[in-house]
Amino acid sequence: MNLRVLAACLLLTLRVSAADVQQLSAMLDEAERIRANDKVKSRELLDAVERDPLAQRDPNLIARVQLLECAWADEPAIAYRAFATGIAAAERAGNVPLRAKLTRCRAAALVFDGKSADAEREYVRALALARQAHDARLESDLLRGIGYLQYDRGAMADALANVQSAYRISGGIGDRKGQLDALSMIANVYADAHVAQYDRAIEYYRQLLDDYEKHGEQADVADTLFNLGSTFERRNDFGAAADHYRRALAIYQKLDRKPDVADTNRSLGLALTKQGQAATALPLLDSSLAYYSGAHDAEGVAMTRQYRGMALRRLGRLEEALRELDAARRYYEQGDNVRYLEKNADETALAYEKLGDWRNAYIAATRHGALQQKLAETRRDELSSRLRVEFDAEKKDQENRALLRENALRERSQKLQVVVIALTALLAGALAILFWRQVANTRRMRAMAMTDELTRLPNRRHILAAAEIALDAARRDARPAAVIVFDIDRFKRINDTYGHAAGDTVLQGIARACRLELRAFDQLGRIGGEEFLVVLHNATAPQAADVAERLRAAVERLDFTSIAPVLRVTISLGVFVADEYNSAAALAAADSLLYRAKEGGRNRIEMEFTST
Ligand code: GH3
Ligand code: MG
Ligand code: MG
Repeated sequence: MNLRVLAACLLLTLRVSAADVQQLSAMLDEAERIRANDKVKSRELLDAVERDPLAQRDPNLIARVQLLECAWADEPAIAYRAFATGIAAAERAGNVPLRAKLTRCRAAALVFDGKSADAEREYVRALALARQAHDARLESDLLRGIGYLQYDRGAMADALANVQSAYRISGGIGDRKGQLDALSMIANVYADAHVAQYDRAIEYYRQLLDDYEKHGEQADVADTLFNLGSTFERRNDFGAAADHYRRALAIYQKLDRKPDVADTNRSLGLALTKQGQAATALPLLDSSLAYYSGAHDAEGVAMTRQYRGMALRRLGRLEEALRELDAARRYYEQGDNVRYLEKNADETALAYEKLGDWRNAYIAATRHGALQQKLAETRRDELSSRLRVEFDAEKKDQENRALLRENALRERSQKLQVVVIALTALLAGALAILFWRQVANTRRMRAMAMTDELTRLPNRRHILAAAEIALDAARRDARPAAVIVFDIDRFKRINDTYGHAAGDTVLQGIARACRLELRAFDQLGRIGGEEFLVVLHNATAPQAADVAERLRAAVERLDFTSIAPVLRVTISLGVFVADEYNSAAALAAADSLLYRAKEGGRNRIEMEFTST
């Protein structure tokens, strides 16, 4: 072979090699492009590239192949391996965009692997690389990924800030899809119960809805309608919620998206039930239940049965309602889902009350009281996290504005800092006031839920829960406690003679008088129409007898001449003192003693005590 031929061969080899890199690269582009639609073809292309010796040498090609392998991986271990090989090659090639994409792929695998904290760190690393590579699309994609993880762990303010940046970046490069994804996440953050800025969420969902409708993107339209429905539901606007669910349902049905149809039927069923249309709701809930049962979706089944229980109770089908509620309760107890258990206990208590099953109603009501308390604690946390979001968002705004001015008027920066500090201090002050007002509000609402309208005493639920707590404590500390049940004598006659309003006045008068006779830490509540319960902490039999007599005498002394000059009102009392007793049994005992007092001629006390 002469020198010229050798040179030509060499040139040819070089030219062919160069063409091959381009060719392989084009094959990878194609594999990536068709991945979603034609998996088999895409895999074939990738395999062909991997078999090529050049692709095993060229670091850029190695990194690209591994990036695809990572994206293809159906288990995290494979993705991690592809990442390790790929990142080494990308570093060798000094290819920052590829490093960014590989790092994102590893982060996604970590999410899939349930390692959220590691994933977040990896996303942040990828973000830095994307910025270095000036890849705005990737940057905004990563900001959304980070935002989602932060949202997931409840860091709402951070999530919001990142997703808002993603929104701006996508807008800047005209990436409509990216921008809409970000907007939808922003709306989700505002619609979250921890943030509870439902008006803003609705505003953004509507913006999304307009856009999706304009582009005829039906699935997105339906998803957004569903989100709007659930946001209205959180705002207790069940009419609007039902409207949006109905519109979403029609689209899901047309698209034949069965899981979404089931979810939407269920949500619509609940909204209708809460709107007083349980009969319309029931068939919808039935069809959801059939779907979830068929799909072996235990959570779906439990939630639907709970909603069925609520609908059935409102339809007066109490036994069926209780069966459904019981099944749901057993599921939610496994996961300790306080929110659903609280609702469940409330519904169960109401169903038993309607059935006249006093004992079970009491048990459920007591459970409800305890769950309510637990939930109130969570709500307090939610409230403070909401204020944190508002505060952080405002602060960020202030900082942004200050920064802009600082750049323009650097010489005034000192002054501006003072302004910022003053504004922040003002803002903090305003927020503190807002916070306390909201705390006071919550307290007032809670008090309202536990107070009887007419007498302003603790209502039945509240006083029964108090009795349970007091007797539990007495048993624990081996101290005595007493319960007194009393009932107005011949109260029906007062109503019949002087009217219901007069009866109400008597009830109020008795409540006030009895409250004044008791020590501050003893409790008095209204457990029925004209029946009251007193819980005496650490009271011995003689003390309880003394209190009962004081109550009896106080009522007898009451002056109702404003109603009628001759009106005299008395009460009969049953007193039960326990050293160690179960509260339901103690109440039943006091109740039967009260009955004995009535039998014995009224305006008198019957008592009994146990001793261990
Ligand atoms: P007894 O001495 O045996 O207790 O006789 P009574 O008439 O008090 O007994 P009964 O339990 O039959 O009557 C209770 C009455 O209380 C019937 C009901 O109309 C009335 N009532 C229940 N709740 C209220 C209320 O909130 N306001 C008024 N005004 N009356 C009520
Ligand atoms: Mg009565
Ligand atoms: Mg009575």
